[in-house]
Amino acid sequence: MKPIFRYLGDFRWDGVPVEAYKSEGAHFREVTRQLLFGRDAGLATELRYFEIGARGYTTLERHQHTHAVMIVRGAGSALVGSEIFELRPFDLVRVPPMTWHQLRSAAEDALGFLCLVDADRDRPLRPTDGELEALRRQPEVAAFIRI
Ligand code: MN
Repeated sequence: MKPIFRYLGDFRWDGVPVEAYKSEGAHFREVTRQLLFGRDAGLATELRYFEIGARGYTTLERHQHTHAVMIVRGAGSALVGSEIFELRPFDLVRVPPMTWHQLRSAAEDALGFLCLVDADRDRPLRPTDGELEALRRQPEVAAFIRI
């Protein structure tokens, strides 16, 4: 692994490919992923940079592993559990184990964030019909989520 990956500006790094957020599904919109520090960095964690284009959103999901997120670009909002938070640069967001979460960009702005996760982690789970029904019992959550 190279010791340095130069910053190119505009949230791009030399030698770090801009990848699709996930390889399948239509349960997200306008999201790219860059793996900044992967397994080859020799840590028990991975650091990724995600960017959600205007009006985009990540998958509504939950899992055993935790997310530690730092917003670094733009504006947006997040569902964490049953609460919705407005987000702006340098806010820190922690998603605890088995907590529903979804991030959305603002209508006119991208949302970029760093996300730290365990290198070895469980696969995300999407809500079942019953779980979705339960989430939608809260009107604020029902209005927020995109699937
Ligand atoms: Mn997640």
